[in-house]
Amino acid sequence: MRKAMIAFGLLFFCTLSGWSQARLSTHWEELTAGDFRSAIQQSQGACLLPFGILEKHGPHLPLGTDLLNVRYAALHAADQEYAVVFPEYYFGQIFEARHEPGTVAYSRQLQLDLLQETTDEMARNGCKKVIIVNGHGGNENLLPFFAQSQMEKPHDYVVYVLGLVEPPAGGPPRKSTGPDWHAGEVETSATMVSHPELVHLDRAKSESGADLGRQKLADNLYTGIWWYARFPNHYSGDGSAATSEMGQYKMKAWIDGMVKAIRAVKADGESLRLQNEFFEKVKHPLDTRP
Ligand SMILES: [Zn+2]
Repeated sequence: MRKAMIAFGLLFFCTLSGWSQARLSTHWEELTAGDFRSAIQQSQGACLLPFGILEKHGPHLPLGTDLLNVRYAALHAADQEYAVVFPEYYFGQIFEARHEPGTVAYSRQLQLDLLQETTDEMARNGCKKVIIVNGHGGNENLLPFFAQSQMEKPHDYVVYVLGLVEPPAGGPPRKSTGPDWHAGEVETSATMVSHPELVHLDRAKSESGADLGRQKLADNLYTGIWWYARFPNHYSGDGSAATSEMGQYKMKAWIDGMVKAIRAVKADGESLRLQNEFFEKVKHPLDTRP
């Protein structure tokens, strides 16, 4: 009798609080077709596309580090501010690590076509606000270019790009010195939070992540070989200095940054309105007046 009363009470509570609705999965692939419809409604059309990569991460981190970490942060963010999260996506720019084992580098054209078809399909399914959440440094030029190229043709949706989120000052002090850009202290720390079982801290010193600085060119002269010139082991920094304390700080800042971005995107009606206005004018530029 007591159990029945508790069960009834719980049911009543859930109905009142709308808990059953709030419990919709954030994972696109876990939703039924019917629940997907509700999920899009609940997310107000805001969907996350966490973007990882498959590449060497020093001697001590898994190939999928960027994918694993960006998904960890995105899924935690979507738990705080509901959004539908697209499945594993790792088809980005990583030509600079093709000399290392386990790198999967799709051609330039395929990267752009696949991303376009992916966001088109997301939008066709109601994701009118696609937030691409970048988890990989090698995509930092690709993604703004992709977003800008959305101006080529009219779309009934908006692509937002959330670049890498740097943690605010005031966290645990870094122990290592010099560039810390790939599989170094901070990224290793973050992976100790997301997937501690995949971090081989004892191997972190078996290769050098030092900056070799082999190219002597001014900062505003760009070449594709710059990364290899500086970090030929596809390792930048010293992962052995990692701590879970630093990882918690980094991850929390990343998740907070994503939550903020999801809220801002949900509140934004102006981007699509301006996009529509722009494409209307594109049809007859001679009529455009200041
Ligand atoms: Zn990485």
